[in-house]
Amino acid sequence: MSKRILLSSPHMGGNEQKYINDAFEQNWIAPLGENVTEFEKTVREYVQVDHSLALGSGTFAIHLALIECGVTEGDIVFCSSLTFCATSNPILYQNAKPVFIDSDNDTWNMSPYALRKALEKYDELGKLPKAVLVVNLYGQSAKMDEIKALCEKFNVKLIEDAAESLGSEYKGRKSGSFGDYGIFSFNGNKIITTSGGGMLVSNNKENVEHALFLSTQARDQAVHYQHSELGYNYRLSNISAGIGRGQMEVLEDRVDRRREIFDTYYKELDHIDGINFQPELSNTKSNRWLTALTIDSEQVGIESSELIRQLQENNIEARPVWKPMHLQPLYEEYDYIAENNDNAKALFENGVCLPSGSNMTDEELNTVISTIKSIIGNK
Ligand SMILES: *Cc1c(COP(=O)(O)O)cnc(C)c1O
Repeated sequence: MSKRILLSSPHMGGNEQKYINDAFEQNWIAPLGENVTEFEKTVREYVQVDHSLALGSGTFAIHLALIECGVTEGDIVFCSSLTFCATSNPILYQNAKPVFIDSDNDTWNMSPYALRKALEKYDELGKLPKAVLVVNLYGQSAKMDEIKALCEKFNVKLIEDAAESLGSEYKGRKSGSFGDYGIFSFNGNKIITTSGGGMLVSNNKENVEHALFLSTQARDQAVHYQHSELGYNYRLSNISAGIGRGQMEVLEDRVDRRREIFDTYYKELDHIDGINFQPELSNTKSNRWLTALTIDSEQVGIESSELIRQLQENNIEARPVWKPMHLQPLYEEYDYIAENNDNAKALFENGVCLPSGSNMTDEELNTVISTIKSIIGNK
């Protein structure tokens, strides 16, 4: 059988090994060192944010962003529902309460209309959230102007989960630079990887310094080990950061290739009635981390789940769109503010993510396309 075609797998650039070797030669294996410092600098200069903190995961970065927003027990945090659980789980780490917000169909991300409804509702209850946590799904930026304006109006902090959107742009500015805090992930399947890692970015010097303090076990200024605050062991290792340095050198190439893959799928499949690709909002540039589309089963003659199953049989890894958090058993008890219809639910039920790795060959891409055409044609 032919080699399995994966959804998104690590794609090294070439210099990663060199930076790792540097760390070995300097015996800077752990924990910090030049790779960490340089990796942080490269990322913050790239996204044009003043401060950056390299961490062991994107999840850690979200957790620290919530802490820096002052989120504690019983507080409310508004959060995109259509996302991966890593976005919302840290809200529960803080014993705070998520309120999930629906997507709009233009971006698949947080609907400003639903956000306004939620802010008005919770304002009336006298329980405004401590933060709004907005996700840029599959690389497409949310409607940042509208979302920022609402956060400013209600005086609520904004955290941008840009785990999937490093390299994307919104009105000429880099994704991840819009909130009070931005976070990135360098997990193995993301657009670039450190084998596992994340970053917190912000223009707020004091809070990033405090996040650094918390991420290294909150050690007070004392020779003996003294602690007044609850800390964490959340820093990125100097070895992983070496991989990140090499990966940042090829980020633009990775974005170009992912966009090319998207464009090819689009050209070959968009004319089919009932197939609709995730849109790209005008004035934005998605990194197209994953090519995602929806299938109208009546028009196309096949359910999205059946298409995924048949691709699987052909050794092609396709996935459903994230299952929204408001439909997860873990989050059953929490409030959800839909637009009018439940868009997030419909996107989940009809959505498919196609193999999109930047190291995919043209031949593999053509195999996926012809397999989809033959599955659909057989209906
Ligand atoms: C991957 C991802 C994260 C977190 O990433 P880790 O580095 O795996 O902790 C957060 N949010 C979204 C939307 C993601 O896709």
